[in-house]
Amino acid sequence: MSEKDGGEARAEPRETPPAPRYRRPGDEVVREAARRVLRGGHRAYASQEELRRAVIPILRREDALYSVGGRRLRRLLLATRGVKIVVRYREVPSQRPLTECPVCDGELAPIRNQTLFGERVVLGFRCTRCSYWTHLKRRVPVRYSFVVGSRSARTIRSADP
Ligand SMILES: [Zn+2]
Repeated sequence: MSEKDGGEARAEPRETPPAPRYRRPGDEVVREAARRVLRGGHRAYASQEELRRAVIPILRREDALYSVGGRRLRRLLLATRGVKIVVRYREVPSQRPLTECPVCDGELAPIRNQTLFGERVVLGFRCTRCSYWTHLKRRVPVRYSFVVGSRSARTIRSADP
């Protein structure tokens, strides 16, 4: 509205900005592409990167500049019906304390236990959104695989629509 071609000199840079190398597809576009990929031949992807490489060509049928990062793809699919994510972990000695869930960025709540002497000790942490938990020896996700299937109620608790 305020944009008009008045021909006045403005403070804008004269050179046109470089063309974007990619565009961000909407959440539903990404979900639909992933569903299509998972329902097609493969049905299971052994890693996040493998799934991502399969989803991108589907996205690009719609827009040649569409792309999606692995982390965003995973976060969207955590809340997608019909997609189950299997997470493999390895245990590493704790470094700095965890502040958020490494799978979904959700909030963590301490897992406590009462000792014989009535003290409450923290045994670990669990995610308030998905099924991630860890004892104090940190469980670090190392691989995500994606399969067709309904996520169990425990996979994620509060699903984004
Ligand atoms: Zn989580």
